[in-house]
Amino acid sequence: MNITIIGAGPGGLITGLKLLEAGFEPKIIEKQEALESTLCGEGISAETLGMIPFRDWSEFAPQTFGHATFFLPGGYRCYAKKKCFTMDRTPWLRAMSKEFVKRGGSLEMGRKVESVNGIGGLVVGADGPFSVAAKFVGNHVQRMAGVQYRMKSDYEWDGMEFYLDKTYSQEYSWIFAKGGLFNVGLLGYQKDLEQFIKDKNLGGEILKKEAYNIPFFGTRVQKENVVLTGDAAGITNPLTKGGMAAIVHAADILTACIKEGKIGEYQYRLFAHPVMAPAYRDGLKYFRELTNEELEKMGKFLDRKVLNQLSRWEKLRIMFSSVVSPKKMRFLMKASSFANKYSW
Ligand SMILES: Cc1cc2nc3c(=O)[nH]c(=O)nc-3n(C[C@H](O)[C@H](O)[C@H](O)COP(=O)(O)OP(=O)(O)OC[C@H]3O[C@@H](n4cnc5c(N)ncnc54)[C@H](O)[C@@H]3O)c2cc1C
Repeated sequence: MNITIIGAGPGGLITGLKLLEAGFEPKIIEKQEALESTLCGEGISAETLGMIPFRDWSEFAPQTFGHATFFLPGGYRCYAKKKCFTMDRTPWLRAMSKEFVKRGGSLEMGRKVESVNGIGGLVVGADGPFSVAAKFVGNHVQRMAGVQYRMKSDYEWDGMEFYLDKTYSQEYSWIFAKGGLFNVGLLGYQKDLEQFIKDKNLGGEILKKEAYNIPFFGTRVQKENVVLTGDAAGITNPLTKGGMAAIVHAADILTACIKEGKIGEYQYRLFAHPVMAPAYRDGLKYFRELTNEELEKMGKFLDRKVLNQLSRWEKLRIMFSSVVSPKKMRFLMKASSFANKYSW
């Protein structure tokens, strides 16, 4: 089967490698002359990395963590135990693209696809948040701005740091260490990131300032001979805005559909997968509505606890803690447990 993938970001390369592994010979078309990663916090879990058919990633993972730390107002913090990494995405993507070619894939660099019309066979749109393939498919997404500074600092981190504090972001801010460097960012505005960095006393030097677009809640990922993945599909996790795990799961689904001769089922199967769980809609809405006062009250319950090791009793206690209604809390807990498993 003739398969053309548009875009050699994580979406295109991971899907390409999975298709090669399944015995297909896809072609990737990439508009850049030399591959550069789009803006990313670069955080990824060991579980997700283990699902990517490129095993030589360790030299591109300058930082390893045993846990993520969630900081809440009032000085409270809680944890999620999970092995994760910060990647050096540009060299990692370049190494994956070399491997793709070595294993028999074809890669055309420096060609911008203007339209999917006229491309025969199966077309996989992996061309990011401003995708031409998504326009053809008629995919509608919600969008969030992400701003991030690359910093050099002697800051002492505690795992992958997530800050739930509405002073800076309606959603969250982060500090991810990266072997002496730091990716410091938030979902929202640059002026709030400046304030966050000042209040955290990060010091050090700002090496790079970037902002980009994060699409989520995609509505349609398939039309005629075109299917979408990654940011083109808007399958980034709505809660965490992590995109790489969803790409890996979508690639498995697409490969299975092609192998079984059931490409028409791609959208149905993808939307039935937990990466697209309906619980994220209410989960995100309630997460955004949380006030700092409510987050602080939650912090009192959760202080120093490991979220993915809470007992049934502890979960019930927080559910009926009157911080927010039990219904809201149920959605928040459900969406965050899916996010923990399927988003990074
Ligand atoms: C601030 C921020 C922080 C983030 N942090 C994380 C994180 O820590 N962990 C995580 O998992 N995710 C994170 N994400 C999300 C993640 O970066 C994206 O979901 C992921 O990069 C999507 O990959 P993609 O391949 O679909 O798209 P992209 O990375 O955008 O790649 C698309 C590729 O297609 C090419 N292209 C585009 N148009 C064309 C065309 N017309 N013709 C040919 N080629 C084309 C581009 O040049 C590019 O190489 C973050 C995003 C942002 C903005």
